[in-house]
Amino acid sequence: MERILTGDRPTGPLHLGHYAGSLRNRVKLQSEYDTFIIVADVQALTTHWETPGLIGVNVREVALDNIACGLNPEKASIFVQSMVPQIAELTIFFGLFTTADILFCRADVVPVGEDQLPHVEVTRFIAGRFNELYGEVFPEPRAMVSDVSRLIGLDGNAKMSKSLGNAIYLNDHPADIGKKIMSAVTDPARIHKTDPGHPEICTIFAYHKAFNAGEVPEIEDCCRKGAIGCVGCKKNLIVKLEVILAPVRERRAEYDKPGLIDDILIMGTEKAVKAGVETMALVREAMHTNYWKER
Ligand code: SF4
Repeated sequence: MERILTGDRPTGPLHLGHYAGSLRNRVKLQSEYDTFIIVADVQALTTHWETPGLIGVNVREVALDNIACGLNPEKASIFVQSMVPQIAELTIFFGLFTTADILFCRADVVPVGEDQLPHVEVTRFIAGRFNELYGEVFPEPRAMVSDVSRLIGLDGNAKMSKSLGNAIYLNDHPADIGKKIMSAVTDPARIHKTDPGHPEICTIFAYHKAFNAGEVPEIEDCCRKGAIGCVGCKKNLIVKLEVILAPVRERRAEYDKPGLIDDILIMGTEKAVKAGVETMALVREAMHTNYWKER
């Protein structure tokens, strides 16, 4: 049997226009199709945001009108949009184009790279709009831009990324990291150790800035004067990276045991769900969609 989805926005009582235009037809269709009738309370809020309390009343009225016209609840599933979490879940995936996942736990601050700023702006807009319509529920999250928001790739490409094949991975073997660093792009003007360099265009220098900040002034000076060679400069970086990555590798091995990471994820997810439940309780309260609170 094919499936049909149709329904009404519970913004007021249904009238003859509804009957002639759709209800009459629904009654016929319910025997031919697996029928879902959506009482689209969330949609109703987009135009009736000033009177959210009335929507709850109309949800029942609209359901009654449908049944009164001949819809058989045994055949047709009449349901309330906001009470089906999978619709919200699906919206998350569709929402990849305009993400608002920051808001589920009412985050105040979002550390991001510069390229993520537009997402935070959209989120702030959504939070602000919600608060304006239904009262203060969400903080308008502030972006905290990281100093090294984007690391250039080993090949000098503006971005280190898996797809470009120009990345050093946290779980790379030290020997592979060494090989990668030794073959990374530097200043092409430096053929001999004594050639004056231009650290500002050098990948290795960018990595020193990100991971070996203390030595940056000295490296910059020596590079410009042609007082250090690129091989030595790279070897120095390898040592510094190893200081950072060796404990990372160790900790990874410690936690890379059957089931352990799942347990950690389950624990974190439980806390996130708790935060989400709290947020949704506030949202439903503010939007007057907590219809079955008393039951
Ligand atoms: Fe880059 Fe270091 Fe060579 Fe200068 S000396 S070009 S900073 S690798």
